[in-house]
Amino acid sequence: MKISIVGTGYVGLVTGTCFSDTGVDVTCVDIDQNKIDNLKKGIVPIYEPGLETMIKTNVEKGRLHFTTDIKESLHQAEVVFIAVGTPPGEDGSADLSHVLEVARQIGRHIDHHIVVVTKSTVPIGTSKKVKAAILEELKKRDANITINVASNPEFLKEGNAIDDFLKPDRIVVGTESEQAEKVIRRLYKPFLLNNHPILFMDIPSAELTKYAANSMLATKISFMNDMANLCELVGADIEMVRKGIGSDNRIGHKFIYPGIGYGGSCFPKDVKAIIRTAQSYNYPLRLLEAVEEINKDQKRVMVAKIKNFFNNQLKGKTFGVWGLSFKPNTDDMREAPSTVIINELIEAGANVKAYDPVAMKEAKKIFNNHITYGKDPYDVLIDADALLLITEWAEFRIPNFKVMEKLMQQKVVFDGRNIYDTKEMMEHGFEYFGIGRTIQKQI
Ligand code: NAD
Repeated sequence: MKISIVGTGYVGLVTGTCFSDTGVDVTCVDIDQNKIDNLKKGIVPIYEPGLETMIKTNVEKGRLHFTTDIKESLHQAEVVFIAVGTPPGEDGSADLSHVLEVARQIGRHIDHHIVVVTKSTVPIGTSKKVKAAILEELKKRDANITINVASNPEFLKEGNAIDDFLKPDRIVVGTESEQAEKVIRRLYKPFLLNNHPILFMDIPSAELTKYAANSMLATKISFMNDMANLCELVGADIEMVRKGIGSDNRIGHKFIYPGIGYGGSCFPKDVKAIIRTAQSYNYPLRLLEAVEEINKDQKRVMVAKIKNFFNNQLKGKTFGVWGLSFKPNTDDMREAPSTVIINELIEAGANVKAYDPVAMKEAKKIFNNHITYGKDPYDVLIDADALLLITEWAEFRIPNFKVMEKLMQQKVVFDGRNIYDTKEMMEHGFEYFGIGRTIQKQI
């Protein structure tokens, strides 16, 4: 089987690579010439564990190709996936310009029947627009070609994307076409050997499922952050509360970790987009509006604690930052809490020295030389007035307290992810500020 994937970002590249690994002949397309040139040379544009090796293997086997020419990719393809970005527009709704541009390109270049699958996260009604855009182009050139459309939202998590794609909890497909269902079922069969379901449904339900999933997860995070802030007021420890509620199997332990707000390329934009969709039906999503508001505030909680500790005197203070990406195991800096925190510190006149295992290249595009970058975690602690733990990379979990103590000007730690033990930090003589933890941790 031959397929085309248009958009070679986090989703398109992982999708294309994983399909090629099952023997499918895949061509990944992107308008970014530099990205495609690099991929042809084996240079992978994103950090995703396991991806580079998998790309190399499949390129060598001759079944994974990269091009900027969509026409070339569509040649003899049975399926084309649209996996381009859907960033938030000015009003928060999803910007569909890239998706619809790809649809028009497909309409201009196909010369045979094809199944068009939208994998980008798109609002309800988009598949219809995709179909209309393709048919309009076909009509313009009097081409008597049929297409079938489907919506197949992606649920992979950056940092674990390969594993998520190879062993999905479920695959959601919206389509009204039996032929599309058949070909998509065949394509995904190798990933369903562990009996996880492929759920076929109507297109609007598939489109909404993706937003509902991300909104639910964002809600869990904002709920826990709200509880964490309450814990600080009433003298409770959110880590105890988290364990207490997580043991209830109706609630579960997953996704109930408090912190400094959700970021990344999906939750913030998807929550905004579904709020906009609902507004257009005159139905305010009050819960999600609150989720978004809480998250916005939560990204500022750490700076408020820092200002409070240093009596608002941040000018000339030096902060060592551990972690910049929006979560571990990715170099993605989109909407990362680190950007809000660091920008506020810079504005207040502080010096920031940061270290991240993989995201420093991306971070430099945002902070330029307004901050300095360390060669390892301890490098950024030299003369630091405090350590700010922003992203919970594994390598930060068991630090060498003795080395920290020698390097730092003041023994102060602001832990935005609660990865350290309050009691242990106090035993080592650190002033320790987590999220929602005002009392000593009971062990
Ligand atoms: P991305 O920004 O990493 O990649 C998008 C790619 O599309 C870019 O390389 C861009 O150059 C390319 N592109 C734009 N217009 C194009 C065109 N006309 N022709 C060819 N290529 C074009 O985006 P992403 O993170 O992979 O997200 C893609 C979609 O998948 C979004 O809708 C996103 O919400 C959704 N999604 C993302 C994730 C994630 O974790 N990143 C997970 C699930 C779903």
